[in-house]
Amino acid sequence: MTIEFTATVLGSPRIGPKRELKKAVESYWAKKIDAAALESVAKQLREDNWLSLQGAGLDSVPVNTFSYYDQVLDTAVLLGALPDRVQGIDDELDRYFAAARGNETVVPLEMTKWFDTNYHYLVPEITPSTTFSLHPKKVLKELKDALALRVPARPVLVGPVTFLLLSKAVGGSSPLLDRLDDILPLYADLLTQLADAGAEWVQIDEPALVADRTQDEIAAAKRTYDYLSAVDRRPSILLASYFGGLGGVLPVLASTGIEGLSIDLTAPGAVEQAASVPALAGKRIVAGIVDGRNIWRTDLDKALATLASLVGSAGSLAVSSSCSLLHVPYTLDSEPDITDPLRSWLAFGAEKVAEVAVLAKALRTGTDSVAVELDAARGALTSRRNDPRLHDAAVRARLAAGIGVDRSPAEARRHAQAAGLELPALPTTTIGSYPQTTQIRLARAARRTGGIDEAEYVRRMQSEIADVVALQERIGLDVLVHGEPERNDMVQYFAEQLNGFAATANGWVQSYGSRCVRPPILFGDVSRTGAMTVDWIAYAQSLTDKPVKGMLTGPVTILAWSFVRDDQPLQDSADQVALAIRDETVDLESAGIRIVQVDEPALRELLPLRTQDKAKYLEWAVRAFKLSTSGVSDSTQIHTHLCYSEFGEVIDAIVALDADVTSIEAARSHMEVLDDLNSVGFDLGVGPGVYDIHSPRVPSVEEITESLRAALKAVPAERLWVNPDCGLKTRGIAEVEASLRNLVEAARAMR
Ligand code: GLN
Ligand code: ZN
Repeated sequence: MTIEFTATVLGSPRIGPKRELKKAVESYWAKKIDAAALESVAKQLREDNWLSLQGAGLDSVPVNTFSYYDQVLDTAVLLGALPDRVQGIDDELDRYFAAARGNETVVPLEMTKWFDTNYHYLVPEITPSTTFSLHPKKVLKELKDALALRVPARPVLVGPVTFLLLSKAVGGSSPLLDRLDDILPLYADLLTQLADAGAEWVQIDEPALVADRTQDEIAAAKRTYDYLSAVDRRPSILLASYFGGLGGVLPVLASTGIEGLSIDLTAPGAVEQAASVPALAGKRIVAGIVDGRNIWRTDLDKALATLASLVGSAGSLAVSSSCSLLHVPYTLDSEPDITDPLRSWLAFGAEKVAEVAVLAKALRTGTDSVAVELDAARGALTSRRNDPRLHDAAVRARLAAGIGVDRSPAEARRHAQAAGLELPALPTTTIGSYPQTTQIRLARAARRTGGIDEAEYVRRMQSEIADVVALQERIGLDVLVHGEPERNDMVQYFAEQLNGFAATANGWVQSYGSRCVRPPILFGDVSRTGAMTVDWIAYAQSLTDKPVKGMLTGPVTILAWSFVRDDQPLQDSADQVALAIRDETVDLESAGIRIVQVDEPALRELLPLRTQDKAKYLEWAVRAFKLSTSGVSDSTQIHTHLCYSEFGEVIDAIVALDADVTSIEAARSHMEVLDDLNSVGFDLGVGPGVYDIHSPRVPSVEEITESLRAALKAVPAERLWVNPDCGLKTRGIAEVEASLRNLVEAARAMR
């Protein structure tokens, strides 16, 4: 018999409402607390989470969504698939963290983005000699602990297909789906153990099935769920899909013996599709109607109408979030400074759980039973729709008038710039930030809490800038920067100054491991209240005769690292942000700045999962960048910075950005990116990073010379710039100085 449930979510944040887990894990790494103390923090967080979900009215509560670091790494542990190089580490927890972070002798697993979110998972390595074996201790313990608290627990697992598709084949054959037969029996065994331990449902996550998949991969998914649903003794299976619609995979999954399927109803067309698959009539549809990836309050009337339209298509219906709530902050309760009306428009994790409960109650007992909640949601929605900050006539008129985004031909710009800049061959520069010292952080914190006044803050930042400018002159760099001391974060810094954005005080979201970010909220039309960076950059320029490069963050990156509006297309928001950045570049130019860098490290991050959506995205992303950078005259040199090495699908877009100089990560990929750029006809300035800033090691002159030689094989000297891979803010000042001295020496010798 299948136990019915009506309200759930697919997962929860786990870092702790006050980042308790982050602090405990980092203390453990620093050997300030022991494993028992760490586990007691973790246990408390897990229990608080389950009880709060149950208390909020969920009648099925996901467990095993906790992780000390990452759920994909946990799955590698579950399947006995940690790499050989950590197997010698006796202590279980140390072995786990070594795989995650490395240690003196062990290189960690690679890390990469979890689909199109800002969460990063660890990539399991599978070799031909990997022998899988089942280690279910963690999931069984969480299930047992939750059931002991009388929580209606539903264990969550990363599914076998997604696990293999996300893993990396090392020293052997891909595709890894060949290894399905090795792991399916382990999953089958696990299902039986979960049933024996009292699980009525198990949630198996297969987000990989929402991306483009080959026929073979789809067949593998079918085989997997035919097999698992045929297991004799097992819980009911809820197959969870999220981050998009299942497309052609939906009927395939519906044809297997699974009992339930969660569908991301925020995906375009998902509702219509679900209604068109007859096989769903025998299944439980878990309707992912509350968006798990944004922070907007749900339109409950609309959600109820959608749910009503699905009732006939499903055997039964439960209400859920569209994905795990891992991707949103814990609760609005931690944001005393966000006030109405904005506050009333928002729903963080806890508020989304409450929405799920309300919708489920409406399904169970009719809308009258939740009239108050429906009314409140309506009021909030109306207030949001009518708020003047969502419609800035001036901004809209400027964009509607149509702004040309093409600059003069590159050759003309090159001439205009050469005269004003007088740079040597192979000019040397850096990517923008210099080490963020404790002094800098203290000054920023003191300013925030009122400990120092604005004048004192400016004085301290100027003294940091003066130090960095002097350092760069001593080292002999050609194009200087101000060092970005005033920026806590390259997106938040701009969001805090732009109309249309709100910042949170505690809206932390896990990015990877113990690292959390606080994305700003884009809620309205975007405009500048005034220049944002000019004073700092102009101050730096006043201290030196060398050109100082102004530093801005590009529109795509600002959007990628924020919670964005859901009431207009992302590209419209991109244009508005671009317009503000454009005005800033023009102000910098007027202040005498001759080089402006507009960073777009997230250009590739926002690339949609499905091929059919990619071209359109790249088109508006490139346009927004060009809108930001085409307001200046030919003599102003535009730089951009992109920091990842696999350019593949965005390589044409990099050409299309038409930046005079592009600095890119290349040290780790041995300059291969230059050939890739050549192959698509790139003929502008390029600064392939000549050393990797992600490690504290100081590169020797010889090493940098070697990188330069490699670069010169692909790029003529007139186009080549010399710079590190990325910003220097995480490095120590001593190693930065030593590294840059070697960089300058290598460039000079090469000239
Ligand atoms: N200008 C930024 C810095 O140097 C760029 C950072 C980035 O690429 N993520 O810190
Ligand atoms: Zn970078």
